[in-house]
Amino acid sequence: MADPATWLCPVCEGVNHGGRVCSTCGNRLPDGFVPRSAFRTPAPPPSPPKVVKAPSAPRTPSPEEIFGSNPFRY
Ligand SMILES: [Zn+2]
Repeated sequence: MADPATWLCPVCEGVNHGGRVCSTCGNRLPDGFVPRSAFRTPAPPPSPPKVVKAPSAPRTPSPEEIFGSNPFRY
């Protein structure tokens, strides 16, 4: 896995560009450690709830609506 181009230091949360040593605090990322990408927001905003339209008043469907116009045709 390639190192992310831009990552956040897990120690100081500094933004670094490339490499595996923090340019802010000098922390070196352990081998295999995948830092957070600076491009990803830690908490994406929740999507607005979808308004579910209430179904229309229930009614009894006619046989033609259930089986089609010709129920004897296969
Ligand atoms: Zn740092």
